[in-house]
Amino acid sequence: MYITMIATECAPFAKVGGLADVVPGLSRELEIQGNSVEIILPKYDCGRYDHVWGLTLDYQDLWVPWFEGAVHCSVYTGFVHSRKCFFIDPHSQDNFFNRGYFYGYPDETMRMAFFSKAALEYMLKSGKRPEIIHCHDWQTGLIPVMLFDIYKSLGMENQRICYTIHNFGHQGHGGQEVLWATGLGAPHHYLQEDRLRDEFNNSQLNFMKSGIVYANFVTTVSPTHAWEVRHGEQGRGLGHTLHVHQNKFGGVLNGLDYDVWNPMIDPLIPKSYGPINLEDKYINKERLRDRFLLKKDYKPVIAYIGRLDRQKGVHLIRHGIFHALENGAQFVLLGSSPDGDITRDFWQLRNDLNDNPDCHLELDFSEELAHLIYAGADLMIVPSIYEPCGLTQLIAMKYGTVPIVRACGGLADTVFDYQFSGKSEDERNGFVFYPEDSSALESTVIRALGLWNHYPSDFRKLIVNGMNCDYSWNKPAQYYLNIYNLIRHK
Ligand code: ADP
Repeated sequence: MYITMIATECAPFAKVGGLADVVPGLSRELEIQGNSVEIILPKYDCGRYDHVWGLTLDYQDLWVPWFEGAVHCSVYTGFVHSRKCFFIDPHSQDNFFNRGYFYGYPDETMRMAFFSKAALEYMLKSGKRPEIIHCHDWQTGLIPVMLFDIYKSLGMENQRICYTIHNFGHQGHGGQEVLWATGLGAPHHYLQEDRLRDEFNNSQLNFMKSGIVYANFVTTVSPTHAWEVRHGEQGRGLGHTLHVHQNKFGGVLNGLDYDVWNPMIDPLIPKSYGPINLEDKYINKERLRDRFLLKKDYKPVIAYIGRLDRQKGVHLIRHGIFHALENGAQFVLLGSSPDGDITRDFWQLRNDLNDNPDCHLELDFSEELAHLIYAGADLMIVPSIYEPCGLTQLIAMKYGTVPIVRACGGLADTVFDYQFSGKSEDERNGFVFYPEDSSALESTVIRALGLWNHYPSDFRKLIVNGMNCDYSWNKPAQYYLNIYNLIRHK
C-alpha cells in the first residue's frame, strides 16, 4: 500500500513530544511490512538539518491558493533516518515556518491551515496519489475536509484518510478567516454543530473536530484513552462528536522504535547492555552521576523526562523530587516548558537545590541527555493527570528503568503494578497509583524504594520483565494496516 503521513513533527528533525517519535516509528514498521511510506512536513528553520540526508529541491514552483491569491512555495525532499520526507517551504511575508521555534505563535491556526493546504496542493500538482493519507493531531485536522470538499473534484477522488489524535488538550481553534484562506468558504455550512463548529464557542471552528467528522477513520493512541475521551471529560468537549462517530473510532496503542530506543545498540549511551548483562547498566548510572556531579552513594536514581506541563502533573513531579530526596533516593529531571510560570518555578527550584549532591534538574530539551538518563536511572516517575499513550514509560522499561505511573490512558495499558496488578508475575513491570494526589504518589514511591533497598532480586525481576515487554511497532502497525484496508475499500 502507498501511504502518505502528514504531520508537524518527525524525530529527530523536528521533535517536541511523542508525536515526533510515532511518525517515523510507525512509518518504518509499515515499510518493513511491505508498504511504501512518505512523510510531508513543514520546512522549519529550526529543524535539525544535521539529521536530514540528501536534501534536494523536489518541486520548484508550487503555488498554493491562499485567500484571493496564491503563496509561492518550494518543496524539498530528503531522508530522515532513512524515511523519505518532503518539506514544504513557503516564501511569503507570513514567514510561517521561519520563526525559531516549532510552535507557540498567535497565528498558529493559520500556519497549520496553510501547511495542510500546501500538503494537499503539493500532492495534487506532483501527481502523488497515495491510497491512504494518515494525518496527525489538530494541526492537520482540516486535511480531510479539504480533501473531500475541494481536492476530490480536482482529481483526488480515491484517497482515504486515517486521522490520529495524540492529544485532545490542543484542538486548534480558528475564525471564519481560515475558511476564506483555505478556499473552503461557506461559513454557514461549516459552522454547523455537526461539522466544524466548536462546542464552546459558536463562532469558532475546531480543527480537531473537523478531523473527526470528515476522516474515514479516527484513532487515538491507546485503548484506555479512547474510552476516556468518549466517556469522561478528557475529550474536552469532543466526547459527543466521538460518540456520533463511534463506528469509525478506536484506540491503537503506540509502539516504540526499537532501532532508536534499545540499550543494546544505542550509540548515545556510554555502555550498551541488555537483560543478560544488566550489570553494565550501572556503568551508565556512574556516567550519569559524573555528568550531573551527583554523589556516588548506594542510592537509587529516580528520574523524570518530559514536557513540564500541567498535563504531566507538574505539582506531583515537584512533590516527588522532595519526597525522593527525603527518603534516600537521588533525583534527576530533564524537562522544558513553553509556559513561563512553570519555567520560572522550575528555575527557582533548580537554584534552591543547586547545592544538593543528590539532585540535578536540567531545564532543557536534549535528545542525547534523555538517552543517558533512561540508561542510568533506576526508576522513572510519570505522574500524569492525563496521558493519551505516553512513551517515556515504554522507553524506560526497555532501558531497565522501572516506571512509577499514575493509572490513566496508555500508562494504564502498559504498566502493571508489582503488587496489585491482576497480571501474572512475569507481566508485572512497575508501580501504579490511581488518585491524583501527593499521598498516593508518596506511598507508591515508598513501595518502589522499599523493593529496591530490601528485595533487590525482586526489583531485578521487575526490571527484566519490563525489558522483555514487546512494545514495538509490529502489532500496532498491523492494526493500522487493518484500518487502512477497511477504509480503502469503502
Ligand atoms: P508527550 O507527547 O505528551 O510530550 P510522550 O511520553 O508521548 O509525551 O513523549 C515524550 C517524548 O519526548 C519521549 O521520547 C521523551 O523522551 C521526549 N522528551 C520529552 N521532553 C524531553 C526533553 N526535555 N529532552 C529530551 N527528550 C524529551
